[in-house]
Amino acid sequence: MTDGLGHPLTEPLFDRLCLIGVGLIGSSLARVVRHKGLARTIVATDASADVRRRVAGLGLADEIVETPELAVRDADLVILCVPVGAIGETARAIGPYLRAGAIVSDVGSVKSAVLADAAPCLPSNVHFIPGHPVAGTEQSGPDAGFAALFRNRWCILTPPPDADKKAVARLAAFWTAAGANVEFMSASHHDLVLAITSHVPHLIAYNIVGTAADLEEVTQSEVIKYSAGGFRDFTRIAASDPTMWRDVFLNNKDAVLEMLGRFNEDLTALQRMIRRGDGEGLFDLFTHTRAIRRNIIEQGQETAAPDFGRRKDEANGEET
Ligand code: NAP
Repeated sequence: MTDGLGHPLTEPLFDRLCLIGVGLIGSSLARVVRHKGLARTIVATDASADVRRRVAGLGLADEIVETPELAVRDADLVILCVPVGAIGETARAIGPYLRAGAIVSDVGSVKSAVLADAAPCLPSNVHFIPGHPVAGTEQSGPDAGFAALFRNRWCILTPPPDADKKAVARLAAFWTAAGANVEFMSASHHDLVLAITSHVPHLIAYNIVGTAADLEEVTQSEVIKYSAGGFRDFTRIAASDPTMWRDVFLNNKDAVLEMLGRFNEDLTALQRMIRRGDGEGLFDLFTHTRAIRRNIIEQGQETAAPDFGRRKDEANGEET
């Protein structure tokens, strides 16, 4: 077993890992930590009693407790895997019960708001290092997680400027051992980058599926029937968890609005090209965007199989 940097991992990196929230991301972390022996003990909690029962049934944690206050006791690594809007209140709840010297992190898709909400609630004798694994699916809950979710995906850490270097290195080693590539940036830069790479694309998907759903009443289910023409690719993203995405937009308002402004300007330019019959302009843009997809595939962030590999599955008669 290695720590992800090729060094043999003889000892678990952490003694007691506490996961608060055991949905898609929390349960994927539990699985990879268990699989690679990254912590001696995993203690988990979730607001939902059903989730706690399911986590027990799946054997994802050594201890499952009812409250975050109980869960964090003696933990040397605490990772908040709850929706962004719940991170501040969770930090407030656990603050008084954290072990001195513990590392506290999160996986929230927005970073500036998390830093502003959580940091003031945590004692000065713990290391708060926000994080965001840029990996996920449109599914939620403990059954949706899998150990390989973070493999070759980026995990962005946004340590405050005065963060303890050793603690940052330990957390980075943890994510590397979980299979991720670690990158560091400021919380505000993270929010701007993710606004265009993740948040605005989700908003566009939610919008186009919403618009088509309205049209569906007019066209009597033709939208569904002919969805393989492109629409269904948006529906995967638009099926993402409503709580998570509501919180993302409420907490990354400025960056999303900034990127949406640019998006609208570019959309207007496209509209003009269509109206004016500017075929050259359209062709040039589409050639440029095609190259971007090739780049993503070359960097191992997407499958090179045509149509996301669906054709192979369809040929095998499998559902996609
Ligand atoms: P999820 O599957 O819905 O899991 C979240 C879990 O947290 C649920 O079981 C939820 O319980 C529980 N929870 C909510 N509030 C809580 C609280 N105050 N205390 C304890 N548990 C609480 O969501 P997820 O996809 O794992 O997302 C978790 C975090 O990861 C979010 O911050 C999200 O932004 C981030 N993230 C998600 C993705 C992705 O693609 N999904 C990718 C990267 C990062 P209830 O169901 O009862 O509310």
